[in-house]
Amino acid sequence: MKVNFISLAFALVVIATCSSFQVSKEPKKPKNIIIMIGDGMGVSQMSASYYYAKKEPNFSRFPIVGLSKTSSGSHKITDSAAGATAISTGKKTYNGAIGLDMDKECAETLLEYLSKEGKSTGLISTSSITHATPASFFAHEKSRKSAASIAKQMLEAPVDFFAGGGLKYFESGSLIKDLESKGFSINTTGLDKSPLRLNNTSTKFGYLLASDGMPKMINGRGEFLKEASELCIEFLNKDEDGFFIMIEGSQIDWGGHANNSQYVISEVLDFDQAVGAVLDFAEKDGNTLVIVTADHETGGFTLGGKSKKVPFGGLVSDYDEIDPSFSTRGHSSAMVPVLAFGPGAEMFSGIYENTEIHAKILKLLK
Ligand SMILES: [Zn+2]
Repeated sequence: MKVNFISLAFALVVIATCSSFQVSKEPKKPKNIIIMIGDGMGVSQMSASYYYAKKEPNFSRFPIVGLSKTSSGSHKITDSAAGATAISTGKKTYNGAIGLDMDKECAETLLEYLSKEGKSTGLISTSSITHATPASFFAHEKSRKSAASIAKQMLEAPVDFFAGGGLKYFESGSLIKDLESKGFSINTTGLDKSPLRLNNTSTKFGYLLASDGMPKMINGRGEFLKEASELCIEFLNKDEDGFFIMIEGSQIDWGGHANNSQYVISEVLDFDQAVGAVLDFAEKDGNTLVIVTADHETGGFTLGGKSKKVPFGGLVSDYDEIDPSFSTRGHSSAMVPVLAFGPGAEMFSGIYENTEIHAKILKLLK
């Protein structure tokens, strides 16, 4: 009888726990938000990591998968500026626009909004930090080509940590001293750990580690993206109000434009390493929403079988040997993946416009 009472009590606890789970349908509000953008990373680029990585890619660790439609306000095929602006502001805009809507009016970016909410903010990219994707989170500019003006906007932007290339755009405008007078500690040599010696986020940190874009992975960039992400997270996590970080694997796109599959794949694998480090933190933290997506697909990249000659001049595709190839030197209109982990992640399943990523994040926070 005693055993039966114990199992009855256990069953009641299980029922009570389950029903309380069913009652709370509202998604949990995340404290921290990390958006990771693989520039040019379509489904094929992500798939490549499954054939070329030495172990299971970190992409597999996401419970929620969706697809985002990337057309811009002006074209069926977007550029990186309009693609990133859609994610950062929730507004479709014309190709080339940074943080502006179709009427060339300023659109508030997620970074600006979340900073006003008291969160610390960070930007990391393997391009110049003034390049289209990171710029679309802190600047407002009619043309992505105005790198000098975009660099200058960093002086007033609510950014607490940034790391990437682009030193020449800051040096040519003598902006390094200006940044320092705005409370930035600027480092142009390497990812030192000085942010971690502080107890708070009152000092800002800027790492400008290349004249323009960072080196390619195939030219020995090393673990910059993963290490900068870890440093930024550990630093901004000192803010009790939480943080927002955008991390871009910029050069997946550049490999696509170059129609260089080795370049593309090495950059996707590097991006996946950074994704792994971010997830390691988010899993431990429990209050961090991680979104991994892309602004568009680049190159019309695909993973077909290698063509083999057969007698009488015919060609067949060898289904046992992948021969990555491209259909364009530009971008394509293919949908791109959205992977989500953490509080509110369930909102990101389905097929939707890229602007919905912004809308879903705001909905979660309100
Ligand atoms: Zn591109």
